[in-house]
Amino acid sequence: MSHKIAIYPGSFDPVTFGHLDILSRGLQVFDEIIVAVLHNSRKDPLFSVEERVHLLEQATADLSGVHVDHFEGLLVDYVKTQHAGVVLRGLRAISDFEYELQIAAINKHLDSQMETCFMMTSSKYSFLSSSMVKEAARYGGSVDRLVPADVAAALKKKFAND
Ligand code: ADP
Repeated sequence: MSHKIAIYPGSFDPVTFGHLDILSRGLQVFDEIIVAVLHNSRKDPLFSVEERVHLLEQATADLSGVHVDHFEGLLVDYVKTQHAGVVLRGLRAISDFEYELQIAAINKHLDSQMETCFMMTSSKYSFLSSSMVKEAARYGGSVDRLVPADVAAALKKKFAND
């Protein structure tokens, strides 16, 4: 049987339990998942790509079959370099749908061989996003049940001087 590899791309600024839930469920479908942190010049991230990769590596250390990488440029090109044909994305709400549909459509246009596979969020994480976590942490709210301990500590450190 063939070895099924999926690429899970995103900002992961920072990784949350919602991302980790998609990863552990994705491993029931794929043999290997490469989490690919996007260098996105249009966004102003809180954590550098190196910090995001490091936090993801710590968070996924127990998930065998998960690797962490980063990329710049077109997703379809990156997917080819990894010899993967599938992109994994999570869907939380209807609001995610239109955006994701557009990305999947442009990627299909750029590479007709590439498929995007969507996994629905677990209901307990349907409200959870990296931006909500940053907003809560910025004003001193507890994020312990939303992100791994290392991420909570890194957020505390980032906002300590604000
Ligand atoms: P992007 O900037 O590409 O949207 P994110 O880090 O916000 O990057 O998200 C990466 C992927 O993880 C996206 O497919 C997003 O829908 C999914 N995701 C984020 N949070 C959750 C969650 N709580 N449940 C399910 N999927 C999620």
